Amino acid sequence: MSVSSNNLEPQFQVLRKAYYLERYPSLAARLDRLRRVKAMLTEHESAWCEALSQDFGYRSADQSSFADITTSIKSVNHALKNLKFWMKAERRTPDLSLRMSGAKTYVEAFPKGVVGIVSPWNFPINLALSPLVSVLAAGNRAFIKPSEATPATSALLEKLISQYFTDDEVAVACGDVDVAQAFVKLPFDHIIYTGGETVAKHIMRDAAENLVPLTLELGGKSPVIVSSSADLKLTAKRIAFGKYFNAGQICIAPDYLLIAEDRLEAFLLDLKSAVEHADSSQGSADSVSIVNERHRQRIDYLIAEGESANARVMRFSGHNQSAYQLTVVINPSADAGINNSEIFGPVLLIKTIGDLSEQIAYINQSSHPLVIYYFGRSETEFRRVARETSSGGLVKNDVIFQYANDDLPFGGVGGSGMGKYRGEYGFKEFSNNRAVYKSGIVDVSGFVTPPYSGVFRMVNKLMRKI
Ligand code: NAD
Repeated sequence: MSVSSNNLEPQFQVLRKAYYLERYPSLAARLDRLRRVKAMLTEHESAWCEALSQDFGYRSADQSSFADITTSIKSVNHALKNLKFWMKAERRTPDLSLRMSGAKTYVEAFPKGVVGIVSPWNFPINLALSPLVSVLAAGNRAFIKPSEATPATSALLEKLISQYFTDDEVAVACGDVDVAQAFVKLPFDHIIYTGGETVAKHIMRDAAENLVPLTLELGGKSPVIVSSSADLKLTAKRIAFGKYFNAGQICIAPDYLLIAEDRLEAFLLDLKSAVEHADSSQGSADSVSIVNERHRQRIDYLIAEGESANARVMRFSGHNQSAYQLTVVINPSADAGINNSEIFGPVLLIKTIGDLSEQIAYINQSSHPLVIYYFGRSETEFRRVARETSSGGLVKNDVIFQYANDDLPFGGVGGSGMGKYRGEYGFKEFSNNRAVYKSGIVDVSGFVTPPYSGVFRMVNKLMRKI
């Protein structure tokens, strides 16, 4: 069934009713749902890749297959393997006085209920289905609002979800911003939103009406620190990858790079050859386009404005003159928009700041990024970056590949978001982690009930010491 803003509420009630009827799906039921997510991906891989390419104008099928399909399948596999352990109650240690009375304490995860998933356009399959894996593993029902910026992929998602799931397990609501706005007003038991900061603030206001807990997966400007000990060839190769992949339209793409003035020219030469190598060996068939005209204009504007703010601008492209043209904007003056706006495209901002203390101070001027990348050989420097900054993730000598680890939590902090998901963290995020206390055989309340005696006073004093 296609869900419009008029029938969001009835569809939500279908999901909620099903949750009330089955508040604790068995391990077998959850595994079955996860296997259906996997089947939906593997049995329609070429249709997914075609829809993605149609939405982007052009998107390499190999990149789509890896970035959207394989990553999602990996998350399913990880959950299939580990779910029975995640579902086990975690024993906790009772307070000593209660332990002596024979009490037991543990934490057990229960489904929250119906979880809303609001997903973006840049990895429209993975960023809808990777949250779905965590939501279903935790035993919830799910309602997905995919992005209107990728209509073919969102329509395919809606069609396939209705083939692989009943409408009381998982449903999809396609539509424009009006549908999204009505969607986040529903009294969900949890909402996970992936997208930009401005919309996140609207969602938080709407969710507050029903006290709906939120996971916000936002973006921001993820910096790269290039240490004096960095291997420049390796740094350039990985940065080129970070900007080539999905044309830099990635929330964890390296946004700006901090490097010493005297290493800049050597780095630019290495970056040029890394781009030429990627371009000549892969060609335009392996590229990804900017998703739409609005975003193309936004990126062009950031470059042009940087250029008029005294930046040195360099455009790198390989022999094939493919769609990939990495543009580097070096040292624009402070008022240029590129210094503050997330780039989200194949453009790299470079600032010549070489001293680690100054690099850290520069990063700390802005809100906490989603990730901080450090390139260098010094563990001491890396530990300094860890202790003196804050971010959702921290990476040494690589970019983007932290996301390939299903056993790591993913998410931001402060301006880059709140809450973490994926793997066991996702299971916990979408669970009600209930505290359970079973009293022992000794009646401890007898000690604290009037009339108070010397025993009570002794117990009172003793409890402060243990
Ligand atoms: P988008 O325009 O596709 O919007 C995302 C979702 O928000 C869509 O489903 C849309 O329908 C919905 N939406 C739009 N307006 C709304 C409103 N007023 N109320 C409720 N929902 C609304 O995506 P976008 O915002 O352009 O995404 C790009 C941003 O997402 C970037 O900032 C990027 O860094 C961030 N991002 C973060 C992650 C992450 O995991 N942290 C991943 C990918 C993208």
